[in-house]
Amino acid sequence: MSPDEKTLKRKLAKIVGQEYVFTDKSTALVYAKDTMPWDVEAHNIPYSVVRPGSSEEISGVLKLASKMGVPVHTHGSGTSLVGLGRPKARGVVLDMGRFQEFKAYPERGYFEVGAGMHIGNVRKKLNLYNSMLPVFPGSELIATIGGAVSVNTSAHAVDATLCKPGDYVLGLEVVMPDGTVLKTGTESARKPAGIEMTKFLVGSEGLLCVITKIRMRLIPDPWLTNIVAYYPSTEDILDTVMAMYKKAVHTPLFFEYLDEKSSRVGYEAVGLEAPKGAVAMMSIHDSTQKGCREKANEFLDFLKETAAEDLAIIEDEQKWKKIWGSRSEAGNYVYRLGSTFGSEITPKVNKLKLAFQEMKGHILNLQSYKNPEFYSFGHIGAPTIHAYAFIPSKTIPNDIKRNVALEVRTKSEDLNVKYGGCGGEWGLTAQRVNFLKKKYGQEYYDILVALKKSLDPKNILNRGNLEGWF
Ligand SMILES: Cc1cc2nc3c(=O)[nH]c(=O)nc-3n(C[C@H](O)[C@H](O)[C@H](O)COP(=O)(O)OP(=O)(O)OC[C@H]3O[C@@H](n4cnc5c(N)ncnc54)[C@H](O)[C@@H]3O)c2cc1C
Repeated sequence: MSPDEKTLKRKLAKIVGQEYVFTDKSTALVYAKDTMPWDVEAHNIPYSVVRPGSSEEISGVLKLASKMGVPVHTHGSGTSLVGLGRPKARGVVLDMGRFQEFKAYPERGYFEVGAGMHIGNVRKKLNLYNSMLPVFPGSELIATIGGAVSVNTSAHAVDATLCKPGDYVLGLEVVMPDGTVLKTGTESARKPAGIEMTKFLVGSEGLLCVITKIRMRLIPDPWLTNIVAYYPSTEDILDTVMAMYKKAVHTPLFFEYLDEKSSRVGYEAVGLEAPKGAVAMMSIHDSTQKGCREKANEFLDFLKETAAEDLAIIEDEQKWKKIWGSRSEAGNYVYRLGSTFGSEITPKVNKLKLAFQEMKGHILNLQSYKNPEFYSFGHIGAPTIHAYAFIPSKTIPNDIKRNVALEVRTKSEDLNVKYGGCGGEWGLTAQRVNFLKKKYGQEYYDILVALKKSLDPKNILNRGNLEGWF
């Protein structure tokens, strides 16, 4: 049953202040939309958007929502790529944008940050302390640190090198669905062992709590040495990644790739001559310049045994900026100039090439749309295969877009099941119900639902995400 919207608005205004409650249609539509390529539907559009300024205000909003039976969707910046950022049930959107405080405690080895700060801004603040933020999404200028910790994605970083942001989180301040404000974790540099709420809540994608503050380890800024390698084909890069793991070569901090088509689009966009084949770009890190150079030379020696036709350390910062930037330009091209349907496959390393070839075959032979284009680029060293079906038009009907999304998703789920993977970024839960059941069984899914129910009996937070939304 719909709530009395006037009463809801009045009561929300009492909690967060009139100026932080928005009920106009245009604001509601902005928060209803995400990066998924099809149009907003009625159930995505919130009754109200609120911008609380403290954990206590969030607590008040959640208590009210619980009393009125109204769902609440937490919004970082809404940049999640696969449906997590779009509300699935009409209710209240909680915009975290006012949670902007930052304080570093170098004498204790950590910093604390409000969940709403953009990742790029956190990085700027940390630069003053010669510290590195272990979170590197392409969206860092707009995505929030709260969103990244809620999804637990390190994005570009190779997992074997840096693990996940959650591994660096020492504690959280959160608001639980019943309005309880909890502080978790430790103020020591030593992380708690054993069962502990921080580990449990990091990566919970807004289903179990609202994160308001994050305490994270200060990591000394490393030296970086950047390498580019040109290969005849994408398959040669996949062979290189598989060999890197098999030979136990030290993994780089970043290991990105552009397939044959993406490299052309990306290089041309940054004003570089388009390569004939595929491109791999890697950053090696170490605590000293000398150590970094030695590690980079070792890595080059390894690359020389692969099918690379040309490879080099890039000293010139401006040139590296262009090469590295070509990767985001490939993304801009597919997302801006058409309808793009992404997939994320994280197979066992030794099945990387097989999984890639199968996914490419699936995309080129889609049932739901004939002759889409195929692009692939991203965090291959992680290892993640991002395979994209690209249709160079934004005006195809909504139902076709949904069918293509569903087909691409189902095929990538099947490959993750077949080749032992599970996905590693993007925030996948909103589209994972079938995957979870296929991979782990109904019992596993039932436990997740029971867990959610035990903390959020009225299913207030991010309703629709754990249910799967189509
Ligand atoms: C151009 C581009 C490039 C990208 N590159 C990458 C990439 O390389 N790797 C990658 O993993 N992702 C990438 N993404 C996806 C996305 O940016 C990240 O997943 C990001 O971490 C989401 O942050 P956000 O602030 O936008 O969160 P949102 O999308 O707003 O939210 C994500 C989820 O977290 C929940 N949430 C947000 N804030 C909180 C909070 N404070 N407390 C509790 N729950 C919360 C939301 O309810 C939602 O379920 C990219 C997106 C774009 C547009």
